[in-house]
Amino acid sequence: MAARVIVVGSVNVDLVARSDRLPAPGETVTGAAYAEHDGGKGANQAVAAARLGASVSFVGAVGRDAFAERARGALEREGIDLSGLFVVDAPTGVALILVDAHGENLISVASGANAALTPAHVADALDRLRPSEGDVVLVGTEISTTTAREALLLARAAGSTTILNPAPATGIDRSVFGLADVLVPNRLELTAIAAADARSDGRAARAAGQPVDAARLLLRATSEGPGVRRAVIVTLGADGAVLVTAEREPVDLPARRVRAIDTVGAGDTFAGALAAGVAQGLELEPAARLAVTAAAVSTQREGAREGMPTSADLETLRVG
Ligand code: ADP
Repeated sequence: MAARVIVVGSVNVDLVARSDRLPAPGETVTGAAYAEHDGGKGANQAVAAARLGASVSFVGAVGRDAFAERARGALEREGIDLSGLFVVDAPTGVALILVDAHGENLISVASGANAALTPAHVADALDRLRPSEGDVVLVGTEISTTTAREALLLARAAGSTTILNPAPATGIDRSVFGLADVLVPNRLELTAIAAADARSDGRAARAAGQPVDAARLLLRATSEGPGVRRAVIVTLGADGAVLVTAEREPVDLPARRVRAIDTVGAGDTFAGALAAGVAQGLELEPAARLAVTAAAVSTQREGAREGMPTSADLETLRVG
């Protein structure tokens, strides 16, 4: 049986207003164009992995509303298994997104059903999905951190590779990192994690501004628990990403140069592509290179998912 990616995370509908520039706090900017897109970091990651040929199951929660039907239909069309999608008594998650002419964004998320996904839901879903050794379980934090922790614990117990996308990065217990084989933060998330660490550790305070140093500290154990097990891969926007492990020199993964139109979902494409690569048997470095390319390509179209490439798209790029 082909190795699988199981994504445990959020599913939202994104309500997007595009205008020339972003409003400052208290300011109103008129003349925006409105659109709705399927979103949620977890669901986006599931789609990114499925487009690249992985066999994907999504574990999450939606409400009993029209957005739920929209969200479910979009994932089904990508061939994603939704036997782990729960229906709960809360509205389907919504993200309010503002984008300017340069593709820069401001996002506010109303988690709704995502916050109602419990450790018991995850235990039930994973009991049925039975993750195994070659599988990858990719977990995000747009769900409760207790639920995310349970997913990582159960996946580790099953011998699967665990990837944690700490987005958002606030409120994650340091001990959760020790359950992740790979941690995939962006620059801001890494800074937030390092700043939280700094309260108990002076070294972390000094390293907070340096992605590689901050990543190295997360690979080390602290009094609060073990470090990330194998690697921290920091995404650096247009600068690509850096792969940091305890044993080797950091590996720079430069971004492909593209004309970015909308970077919403670039990090999700990265995480989903990384998971797909690892599930297909790639080592971390080539899987991360695949992720850097897939994420760059995804920024060339509006919407988190619309620009996510298929394996065939990436093949064409390599030849062309
Ligand atoms: P997030 O989407 O979480 O903010 P990043 O901005 O770091 O995360 O982007 C994730 C990945 O997307 C980067 O590692 C890179 O591969 C790709 N990417 C993002 N912005 C660009 C860009 N302007 N040009 C090329 N690649 C990009």
